[in-house]
Amino acid sequence: MKVTEHIIKAKGKTLFSFELIPPQKGRSIQELYDNIDPLMEFKPPFIDVTTSREEYIYIDRDGLLDKKLTRMRPGSVGICASITHKYEVDTIPHVLCGGFTKEETEYLLVDCHYLGIDNVMALRGDAMKEEKYFKPTNGGHCYASDLVEQIVNMNNGQFLHEVVETDNKSNFCIGVAGYPEKHMEAPSMDADIRRLKQKVDAGADYVVTQMFFDNKRYFDFVENARNAGITVPIIPGIKPLAVKRHLQLLPQVFKLDIPDVLVKEVEKCKTNADARQVGVEFAIQQSKELMAAGVPVLHYYSMGKSSNIQAIAKEVF
Ligand SMILES: Cc1cc2nc3c(=O)[nH]c(=O)nc-3n(C[C@H](O)[C@H](O)[C@H](O)COP(=O)(O)OP(=O)(O)OC[C@H]3O[C@@H](n4cnc5c(N)ncnc54)[C@H](O)[C@@H]3O)c2cc1C
Repeated sequence: MKVTEHIIKAKGKTLFSFELIPPQKGRSIQELYDNIDPLMEFKPPFIDVTTSREEYIYIDRDGLLDKKLTRMRPGSVGICASITHKYEVDTIPHVLCGGFTKEETEYLLVDCHYLGIDNVMALRGDAMKEEKYFKPTNGGHCYASDLVEQIVNMNNGQFLHEVVETDNKSNFCIGVAGYPEKHMEAPSMDADIRRLKQKVDAGADYVVTQMFFDNKRYFDFVENARNAGITVPIIPGIKPLAVKRHLQLLPQVFKLDIPDVLVKEVEKCKTNADARQVGVEFAIQQSKELMAAGVPVLHYYSMGKSSNIQAIAKEVF
């Protein structure tokens, strides 16, 4: 079922969902299941599975370093299929511009269609670890809006090189990313909102936001988006702060602010376990306020560990 259909079916009740990261190559999918199991009692209608950019590794060959490009966490679509099969829940693979040619994207979407996946999250992807800025892949898309266009075209039977007359067209529901504190590369919030509108006009059906710790940022973002004519659901993304180092790391990586009240509480913590507890309590308050405001879904970034999400969901759902 589509995310938008789940939202309509919920009739105003806030839904619970979360995002998972594939295990590192060679590790077991059981690790993921162990993290999903405790969260199933909160009945997520859908679960997102991220896709990671490829990266360079250096292999020692008799003293000479061989530089190879590889993806450390492959398998997002396969993981989606496995989770759907095991838990009977909708899954959403993240589809990236970066690291994929348009042809590869087409094949990936064909796989998703055959597997009965109804939703995809269309993203540009981050820059590769070694690169300061995002560089489009040769033969790939530059922006998420271009990727949305490709998915919409495929939904209409228009593949990259041929139009296919068929009764078996894909009908993907398309999610895109939104940034309550502005995407780091955008020159202004207004410019970023115009880019978001471009993605929605291209055919995106819903938006999931980057993490934020100050709900006002989300409420202002939604207001700005609505004023710009964006009418699709805007799902807040929540990341519970989990270790003391997140105070530096999250603002550095995601260019976001952490409210001083949370900073002070975390600074008082002696251990990471204390900080994790503060993060959980803060996320509970944040979630309750968002729920009271009638958000369609609370979407949690689990970063591979579910115990804090479980503690939050127990209090909120
Ligand atoms: C909910 C969510 C899930 C994510 N999942 C993943 C994941 O699984 N894997 C991963 O690698 N990353 C993921 N990311 C991170 C995301 O890939 C990065 O934030 C990336 O830098 C931007 O992606 P985007 O889809 O928002 O890009 P875009 O919408 O393409 O925007 C990128 C930047 O370009 C600007 N822009 C857009 N269109 C144009 C244009 N035509 N001309 C000029 N400027 C333009 C925008 O304002 C923005 O600054 C996720 C982010 C979110 C919020």
